Amino acid sequence: MKISEILKNKSLSLSFEVFPPKTDSSFESIKAATEEIASLSPSFMSVTYGAGGGTSRYTLEIAKNIKEKYSVPTLAHLTCVSSTRETVRQRIADIRDAGIENIMALRGDIPDGASDMPRDYRYAVELIRELRASGDGFCIGGACYPEVHPESVSEEQDIIHLREKVDAGLDFLTTQMFFDNDLFYGFLERARDAGINIPVIPGVMPITSANQIERAITLSGSYMPRRFLALVDKFGSDPAAMKQAGIAYATDQIIDLFASGVTNVHVYSMNKPDVARAILHNLSDILGK
Ligand code: FAD
Repeated sequence: MKISEILKNKSLSLSFEVFPPKTDSSFESIKAATEEIASLSPSFMSVTYGAGGGTSRYTLEIAKNIKEKYSVPTLAHLTCVSSTRETVRQRIADIRDAGIENIMALRGDIPDGASDMPRDYRYAVELIRELRASGDGFCIGGACYPEVHPESVSEEQDIIHLREKVDAGLDFLTTQMFFDNDLFYGFLERARDAGINIPVIPGVMPITSANQIERAITLSGSYMPRRFLALVDKFGSDPAAMKQAGIAYATDQIIDLFASGVTNVHVYSMNKPDVARAILHNLSDILGK
């Protein structure tokens, strides 16, 4: 099923993101974790793609397995920046042949010191145009950044380039994680003002351990509100308490997003079925499950 169709359904829902294993040895345990998350019947699941293509094979295997075994619609991520046109074309064909209808079209991060990497693509917009031109009828998602992409020269330029991606044929956008919902609401207003009218799915990352925070900041550069930092300060050294507090904080964010008119929130569940289950449990009456 296409995510664009799912998003037309106005009942409240959660989707979950998982990431594929980096090595063969962790394949079975990660596959089991993703299956456990799929068994919770999210609206869809996204499977990330390693920059540089390291885990590309597993992205497809995990996405196909979830779709076939649990009938959960899947979104296969695909990056282009360090790949050749030939490799990307092959990945697109593999995704199509696996019966996956949704692709998250990304540039990917530019690897450090990779002077000899292929330079066939510079920006995600080129991949989006290629996907649209393929005529395969994919539902295509793109990334957006409520706090501005770290490499962007300005907020205005970032929105201009986002509009280019939308005009190239995106069906929906998913945001980078944020910890202050007002940043999302402000971004949505700027996007709508710029003529971006496709659905924008907010992405929420439950922070369940103190050392996850540093990684989250490095990855996203997200602003951490005082209320969030106080919670980490107080509970960061107690793993069980931090997990409970982090899940409560993410739950709170999701409730506020639903109350403000959002219908689907994407949860960066990081292959943690217990976290996904706890959030669904906290929202059981709200989601009607
Ligand atoms: P783009 O949209 O190409 O934007 C990149 C930068 O270039 C921005 O600063 C933009 O303003 C600028 N830009 C765009 N077009 C132009 C232009 N014509 N001229 C000048 N500047 C321009 N990474 C992975 O490796 N694997 C994943 O699975 C993955 N999943 C993600 C999922 C989500 C929801 C998000 C938000 C990010 C994800 N990422 C993933 C990270 C992403 O690959 C990086 O943030 C990457 O640096 C940018 O990718 P993009 O698709 O947003 O790039």
